[in-house]
Amino acid sequence: MPKIAVLPGDGIGQEIMPEALKVLRAVLGDRIKDFEFQEYLVGGTAIDQTGKALPPETLKACQEADAVLLGAMGGPKWDKLPAEERPERGALLPLRKELGLYANIRPVKMIPSLISASTLKEEVVKNVDLVVIRELTGGIYFGEKGRKSDPPSVYDVLYYTEEEIRRILKIGFETAMNRKKKLCSVDKANVLESSRFWREIAEDMAKEYPEVELTHMYVDNAAMQLVRYPEQFDVIVTENMFGDILTDLASMLGGSIGMLASASMNGKKGLYEPAHGSAPDIAGQNKANPLATILSAAMMLRFTFGLDQDADRIEQAVRKVLAQGYRTGDIAGPKDHVIGTKEMGDAVVAAL
Ligand code: NAD
Repeated sequence: MPKIAVLPGDGIGQEIMPEALKVLRAVLGDRIKDFEFQEYLVGGTAIDQTGKALPPETLKACQEADAVLLGAMGGPKWDKLPAEERPERGALLPLRKELGLYANIRPVKMIPSLISASTLKEEVVKNVDLVVIRELTGGIYFGEKGRKSDPPSVYDVLYYTEEEIRRILKIGFETAMNRKKKLCSVDKANVLESSRFWREIAEDMAKEYPEVELTHMYVDNAAMQLVRYPEQFDVIVTENMFGDILTDLASMLGGSIGMLASASMNGKKGLYEPAHGSAPDIAGQNKANPLATILSAAMMLRFTFGLDQDADRIEQAVRKVLAQGYRTGDIAGPKDHVIGTKEMGDAVVAAL
């Protein structure tokens, strides 16, 4: 039986996860009993109860699962702990590394009824439909790091093997093949040797995908182009740190970070989570937007379980409730009627 490890985590994670599960139950109907859903502790909640952000039982369950559905983790309560014990360093990074989740996939598509929620002009964002693919288990975040005392100094090493670069670029090319066949590889080849190597490999691989139009862009220019003329992009592929920054920037093109779903993949196995964090400022108040988590659950059905029709139904239901005018605070205009987390989940279920 396919296994899904459910990790609500901290803050609004506790509120948005039940809504995603509610929607999964509604869309799968009787087929829900063909899946095993099991909940596990992670993040600050796990620190409080077990002393560890990623308890061994949680890691084992995630290793054995076909898919992991994650809410969010972290919060001010655990910020004073040593860095390696905090939720992000202690759970999120090891989880990605242990599960070998090397590809982070984030689609950003403007939903017409949300155009007014964007901080950017309508003519800039109205046709946004792009995917950012970020390398997730290599680069500077995982390289050697340290400090030296004489003279006082610090270093973080950016390291990639050729194989790591090839496998993420392959996902870029293949995603482009299923879309508009345009791949933009983002780097900093004017300064970094790692970027020059990355570019050489991309050029070499492009020969295997003659239908894909490959372009290269420096990361600083890419940041500017994403807010100037985002329509030009179809698929963007980039290394870990550049991707970290560009995906947050790209999230605003879709209206709100509360709308942005993400998948972190290793083959068919995936960890699905909203792109936002645990939002401690609104946690426990039934204010969080659950749609990014609901859309992450749809990605899980599509990518891990091949249930494209069910995923389509969820995505259509989300578009429908937004077209009907349902809004959580983060995507509401001054005249909109604001509803809570639970009510938004109910509205999606009703729209199914
Ligand atoms: P955040 O994404 O939690 O919040 C940023 C802002 O967006 C806040 O004003 C918040 O209220 C709002 N927001 C986020 N998600 C929302 C939603 N679903 N609905 C409505 N509004 C939403 O980022 P932050 O404030 O920088 O970080 C808070 C905590 O989350 C930190 O401890 C951080 O380490 C952690 N974090 C975790 C993850 C993760 O679990 N993957 C990712 C990013 C940050």
